[in-house]
Amino acid sequence: MPALKAKRVIHFVWNTGWYRGVMLRPFWGEAFFILSVPGEYYKKEGITMNKQEQLDGIRNSAMEELNGISSLKDLDAIRIKYLGKKGEVTAVLKTMGSLDPKERPLVGKKANEVRGEIQEAIDKKTTELKAKKQEEELKAEKIDVTLPGKEVELGHKHPLSIVLDEVKEIFLGMGFNIAEGPEVEWDYYNFEALNLPPDHPARDTQDTFYITEKMLLRTQTSPVQIRVMENQEPPIRIIAPGRVFRSDAVDATHSPLFHQIEGMVVDENVTMADLKGTLEIFAKKLYGEDTKIRLRPHHFPFTEPSCEIDISCFKCGGKGCPMCKGEGWIEILGGGMVHPKVLENGGIDPDKYSGFAFGIGLERIVMFRFGLDDMRLLYENDMRFLEQF
Ligand SMILES: [Zn+2]
Repeated sequence: MPALKAKRVIHFVWNTGWYRGVMLRPFWGEAFFILSVPGEYYKKEGITMNKQEQLDGIRNSAMEELNGISSLKDLDAIRIKYLGKKGEVTAVLKTMGSLDPKERPLVGKKANEVRGEIQEAIDKKTTELKAKKQEEELKAEKIDVTLPGKEVELGHKHPLSIVLDEVKEIFLGMGFNIAEGPEVEWDYYNFEALNLPPDHPARDTQDTFYITEKMLLRTQTSPVQIRVMENQEPPIRIIAPGRVFRSDAVDATHSPLFHQIEGMVVDENVTMADLKGTLEIFAKKLYGEDTKIRLRPHHFPFTEPSCEIDISCFKCGGKGCPMCKGEGWIEILGGGMVHPKVLENGGIDPDKYSGFAFGIGLERIVMFRFGLDDMRLLYENDMRFLEQF
C-alpha cells in the first residue's frame, strides 16, 4: 500500500512541476516516503543567498564595465543594460513575487542597494565624462595667438567706379552738383527736346531698345539736361553720370550697355572759353598736370557750336605711341555750347542765358586710364582681371 501511495505522490509531483524540491528518502523498512515541496520553499535560504549573490555579480560586472568606458554613449548602453526596463537588476526585482514573503524584503533591499550603487556610479561617470568632453572641446577651441591669422578677403571698387568716383570728385570740387535721370526715358527727352525730331538722321546712330513707341531705354545721359532745366533756374552746374543703352552687338569697343557722364553749365555770359577751361582742369586732374587739351570742330544736334575734345597722350606726352595710334592725341569727349533751341525746350530764355554741355564716355576714359584694350573686360566680372585694381 505505502509503495502505491508513494508512486501516486511522485506522479503528482512531476505533473505539477515541483520536481526541484523532490526528496526521496529511505524511511523505514522497504517502503519509501515521499516528501515533496516546492523547490523555492524547501531551499528558501539558499535561494535568497543566490539572489543576493546574483545581485552582487550584477553590480560587480556593472562597475567593471563602467570603468572601461570612455564615452557618454557607452554609458547610456550600460544604464539600459542594468537599470532599464529589461535590465538585469529589474529582472531580479521582477522575480520577487515568487519568493517567500519573509525573504522578499531581504532580496528587495539588496536589489535596491545594488540599483542605487549602479545609479550612483553611472552619475559619477556621467559627470566625469562630461567634464572630460568639455575639457577636450575647450582644448580644441583654444586660440593659439601665435598662429598666423586667416586672411580676410576685402572687396574693392570696380575700375569703372574707381574712375567715376575720381571724376565726381573733380567736378564737385569745381562747384558742380550731381543730377540723375531715369534709364527708361521718354522719346521726347531722349531725342526730341534735344533737337532730334523723329526724322532726324542722327537717330540712326543711336538705335536703342523701345518699351513702347514713345518710351525707350535712354541712349545718352543728355535727357538729364532737359529734366534739370525744367526744374531748376540758372545758374546750373551739374554732372549726370549713368547707364545708357544702344542696340549694339558686343565687341572690344561696343556694348549694349555702357556709361556716360553728362555735364552742363547754364548761366549768364557762359562762353566756349568756360567749356575749355573747365575741361582742361578736368583733364589735368584726371591724367596729370602736363595734360593739354585740344578742341576740334564737330557736329551734335544739341550743341552749337560743337566740338570733340582731345587730350595730349598721357603715355607718350604727344610724341606718338600705340596708345594714341601715333597721333599724340586721344579723343575723350564731345561737347559744345547748348543749342538755343534746347535751352528753350528746357524753359530757359536763350537771349538771357547761355550754357555749355559735354558728354564723357566713362568706359573710354577707364580704358585709357588703365591701358585696357577690350571693353568686355569691364563687364565679365572675371576675378583675375578685377583683382588687379
Ligand atoms: Zn601716345
